[in-house]
Amino acid sequence: MKRETTPKWSRGPIEAPIWVAALAVMFFILGATGALSSAQAAIIDYAVIAGILALSLNLLMGYAGQISLAQASFLGLGSFVTGFVVSHAGSFGLPLSLLLSVVIGAIIAMVVGLPAMRLRGVYLAIATFAFADAFDNYIFNIQKISGLGSGVTVTRPHIGPFHLKTDATLLAFSLLWLAIVWLLDTRLMSIRYGRALLAIREDEQIASSFGVPVTQEKMRAFLMCGAIAGLAGSLYAYQVQVIVKSSYALQISLFYLIVVVVGGLGSRPGVVVSAALFTLLPYWFTFLKGWDFVIAPALLIITLVRNPGGLPDHLQRLRDARELKRRRETKEDIAGLRPKVVGTERPAATVTEELLRVEGISVTFGGLRAVNDASLEVTTGAAVGLIGPNGAGKSTLFNVISGFEKPRSGRVFFEGRDITLAPAHERSALGISRTFQHVGLVRRATLVDNLMLAQHSRLDYGAIAGLTALGDTRRLEAESRTNALDLLDEIGLADFADLRVEVLSTGQQRLVELACAVASRPRLVLLDEPSAGMSPAAAEHLAEQLARLRTNFSTALLLIEHHIPLVTAVCDTTYVLDAGAVIASGPVRKVIKQPEVVTAYVGEAV
Ligand code: ADP
Ligand code: MG
Repeated sequence: MKRETTPKWSRGPIEAPIWVAALAVMFFILGATGALSSAQAAIIDYAVIAGILALSLNLLMGYAGQISLAQASFLGLGSFVTGFVVSHAGSFGLPLSLLLSVVIGAIIAMVVGLPAMRLRGVYLAIATFAFADAFDNYIFNIQKISGLGSGVTVTRPHIGPFHLKTDATLLAFSLLWLAIVWLLDTRLMSIRYGRALLAIREDEQIASSFGVPVTQEKMRAFLMCGAIAGLAGSLYAYQVQVIVKSSYALQISLFYLIVVVVGGLGSRPGVVVSAALFTLLPYWFTFLKGWDFVIAPALLIITLVRNPGGLPDHLQRLRDARELKRRRETKEDIAGLRPKVVGTERPAATVTEELLRVEGISVTFGGLRAVNDASLEVTTGAAVGLIGPNGAGKSTLFNVISGFEKPRSGRVFFEGRDITLAPAHERSALGISRTFQHVGLVRRATLVDNLMLAQHSRLDYGAIAGLTALGDTRRLEAESRTNALDLLDEIGLADFADLRVEVLSTGQQRLVELACAVASRPRLVLLDEPSAGMSPAAAEHLAEQLARLRTNFSTALLLIEHHIPLVTAVCDTTYVLDAGAVIASGPVRKVIKQPEVVTAYVGEAV
């Protein structure tokens, strides 16, 4: 099959920043020739700065799904830092003010983000709100720090030949920064750190099952958000020249929240255009003044009701659904495709040794003992079943093994190592991967991105290298992409690689999940009811597919499954869990005939 192997980030994304830079040159010339009035240039500059600030909030809210009501505080920080630096640093004022605004913005944003380690949604919003309030009412009021009173005056800088004295040159300068931020933002979303954010937005458990250190990545999102907002604040200070604290009041934070949501959470062009329009329209259509504060919330409500992801998200989904249909029509039946064997498998294990040992695990929820002193063992390369009636505690035991649930007592050993207390993402990096009873994929990311996400811990380049595409980044990304496409090929879904997961059928999503589970070359795959939600026809293929996974990747399987024929076909031995306790274990066919197992299943079909 002919296919695109160039990573998408080595082309394409450069175009938009080039256009923005071209605009900068154009405005610079228009300003120099007097064709653009100073007042107009200033207004457009505000729109550009608003665009930068919107990108910073979009990074946090749109990509990472974290909420912040303190965006104006970061903007204010950048402005006040700039005011302070300009009045003290003389001719190095410009570079120093930009640098310090970015650094201080990043540091303070991490402090604001600390509650995000624990809090989510509304609670996080309240925590950031408290911070914004503190800045609004106290920090920005401290005379010594902010120099407030009648406002801080910022003189416009010039370094050597660069005079940023006129509004048109400042506008050109801001546009160049917009181009840079845009470029970095695009890069971010095409490397592992960006994919990690999308996974966190979707579901933190899914993210850590892919090997993403959730807390760390959330902090990184706050850091980047604060850095960009600090930059915007600095540019804003040079434009307004007189900084007063009312420009950074709470309602400004809310205004940007609306801008980003209406523009479309996660849509780069969407939020920039939205920010520009929200800024420019009230200036250009003066009758809108005052009304914009009615129109904006109305737009917010309409967006949230009609399509929480905004218009760009909606359009993307429609496009993907259409593409799915078109590509399906042009190709023969998917289910009939025979998966081919990939050549990158690890050599089969020759000796069987202990891989996973679970000893005396108990888990309680309030008064309920969901798992009761359960022990089990999986040797290298083995396929072991875990069966039992609904509510027996199977999924809970999986959660203990993969690190999502802390047991009340008992230990988990993997390759002889006690991992009872290891965080989930570390277990994934050690070689334990899992699927969920409900599809555990990033639904709003493409198939190929999901498969690359599943290789998160194998792509060990740093953030700076990633953003600048230095070092091994390109090679590692390209390899991971090739691996992803190979796996998609194997499950017969390579044609849909660039479509978002959400447009696929449940059965297809299940297959993608399986591919993700082996993408990181794990030693052990935990499968939680993989046939759930599959059509009978697709489920029939599953046994074959699981057996192939096992041999191709010489990985061990621990399989929770209700469909007993599937267990019989895939597994050699099985454990039976009932009311949290292991009541039987041994060869599948023998175990399912035991009277206590049959009794446990009374009322359910074995
Ligand atoms: P299974 O996967 O075997 O169907 P589960 O492990 O999902 O069973 O659930 C075992 C028992 O624990 C059930 O009674 C379920 O209601 C309960 N349970 C599971 N998760 C939680 C939770 N987070 N909080 C409270 N009870 C839970
Ligand atoms: Mg379950």
